[in-house]
Amino acid sequence: MSTSAGLVIVGSGPAGYTLANQLAALDFSGPITLVGDESHPPYDRPPLSKEFQLGDETTLALQPSLAPGVRLLTGSRAVAIHTQERMLELADGSRLAWSRLVLATGTRARPFPGSSLSGNVMSLRTLDDAREIRARLRQSSRIAVIGGGPIGLELAACAHQLGITTTVIEAAERLMARSAPKAIAERLLVHHRSHGVQVELNAQVTRIDEGMVYLQGGRAVPADLVVVGIGVLANDDLARQAGIACDDGIIIDGFFRTNLPDVFAIGDVTRQRNPISGRFERIETWFNAQGQAIALAQRLAGAGAGATAPYAEVPWYWSDQGKLRLQCAGLVEGEIQASRGEVTSGFLHGLWSDGRLVGLAAINAPQDFNLLRRQIGREDGITPAQFIAGEFRSLQLCSPPAGAPDSPTSVQPEQGGAEQSLAGQSAGIAACPLTDIDEGGIGSTTLLDGTRVAIYRVRGEEVFATDDRCSHGASSLCDEGALEGYVIECGLHLGSFDIRTGKPVATPCTKSIRTYPAHVNGGTIWIATQAVSTQT
Ligand code: FAD
Ligand code: NDP
Repeated sequence: MSTSAGLVIVGSGPAGYTLANQLAALDFSGPITLVGDESHPPYDRPPLSKEFQLGDETTLALQPSLAPGVRLLTGSRAVAIHTQERMLELADGSRLAWSRLVLATGTRARPFPGSSLSGNVMSLRTLDDAREIRARLRQSSRIAVIGGGPIGLELAACAHQLGITTTVIEAAERLMARSAPKAIAERLLVHHRSHGVQVELNAQVTRIDEGMVYLQGGRAVPADLVVVGIGVLANDDLARQAGIACDDGIIIDGFFRTNLPDVFAIGDVTRQRNPISGRFERIETWFNAQGQAIALAQRLAGAGAGATAPYAEVPWYWSDQGKLRLQCAGLVEGEIQASRGEVTSGFLHGLWSDGRLVGLAAINAPQDFNLLRRQIGREDGITPAQFIAGEFRSLQLCSPPAGAPDSPTSVQPEQGGAEQSLAGQSAGIAACPLTDIDEGGIGSTTLLDGTRVAIYRVRGEEVFATDDRCSHGASSLCDEGALEGYVIECGLHLGSFDIRTGKPVATPCTKSIRTYPAHVNGGTIWIATQAVSTQT
């Protein structure tokens, strides 16, 4: 094995993959090696408890595939870090020299106390787990899910959709106590129960035997399959053994540095300062893994905002539970709380402390969520009264708070792959999941060079993108515009453009706006990073 020192990333999950591809996209000099202990090339984890269980494998692929310059070692477990020699030891006894080392080892499912994961008791973390569960679901008529967190509830919704009698067993008095506000938990409970999922709260499992889960108080839940979703443990043993400071996760600063020189950590395995709570926490979400990876790549390559500014993104995640889309950002508790809307038409819940919006949760309201989450942490942010009255549009909603830029995934296209069909562009970004933008709605993303782009979803997978700035009044089309068919009307002076060509279709605009090739792949909207040149 090569011993030439380079950048070595341990862990090929979403964080490790994104870092490797980002570095390649930023022309990082020097070899990059990605070491993963799973036998598969990098894949995406969120679909494992969602569409994958219903039979759709297409969303698993991380787009694009790994940049050609990155060396990937699959099935290779790192077992020791030799800090003096700057060597990484793998399970097969081989060694990799590193000049800089990044630990992206993620987390593993917490085992159920006193019960081994075997026979009909499983957990869900990896593709192999998901395949096994999917196969067993097809042979089951009754399933018990232990844990009423996002994974348990997503899986329960899938099992129920497959016609399986499903019971969720949660130890706490409510669902998703760790990750969603109480007002959301109450609505989730109603939703799942009304769809036929049985939910047991305050339920302590005392024993799991073949075919039966026994609860304290004598009740028993029959189950052909038991899936345990009771949280995760950080894969920080490798770091701890090397003398890296850990506390149920690798402790990092705002630049992802550990206490050892040239050793960094990103993703689920890290314990970092939450910009809203101020506490050091593990933030176990996909966007955190992505955002950290992008910022570290910028730091290591010396390019972009992440090179100089500490990472301070407001954490957020989504969870798809059957037809219900949950999105939560920031904290789950606050001194003042307010709700608006209904689950069927879109429900929003805000939390305020010390006069600032500190948390936001939404059910089936992605556009409002995406507008409002940028208010979190701002001194001048939305007030409870404005929130209740729905006065979102009067605020500067799309500009993120200082230090919290949008986090697009900028990537090099696969050779000959889908991104090259983006009108020959050299690179594309994964802007957001398609479902983040309603039909007829507008979203936005920010390119690596800082250009803000408005994204339009006309219907289905028909998407377009243009410069966000109106060429007339320089107002934001995303924040203030209204989309009708293929025409975007600027909210400031009511000039309008054809979103397919960027050409003005009504006064007062005289100049075209630039358009960006856009398409949908794997449920994600992709935008080319270079605009198509337009004629005025
Ligand atoms: P991981 O994804 O855990 O990847 C770490 C990788 O490192 C793993 O492949 C691991 O095997 C490998 N590794 C560990 N130790 C070693 C070693 N010593 N040597 C080599 N390799 C090693 N988040 C959301 O925001 N929304 C969702 O809807 C959502 N859904 C989810 C559904 C499921 C089923 C799961 C499991 C998670 C979901 N998440 C979701 C969470 C999200 O997937 C994680 O936050 C994300 O995967 C973290 O990425 P990571 O790369 O830090 O860690
Ligand atoms: P969570 O920790 O979010 O939820 C686990 C739930 O199980 C908690 O409500 C917990 O209650 C409960 N629980 C703990 N012990 C028991 C027990 N003995 N009996 C019954 N219930 C118990 O973890 P998940 O397993 O749901 O999620 C795993 C990972 O995936 C996490 O890292 C999560 O952040 C991540 N993730 C997943 C998302 C998704 O699927 N959409 C979205 C974002 C992140 P208590 O809190 O009281 O311990």
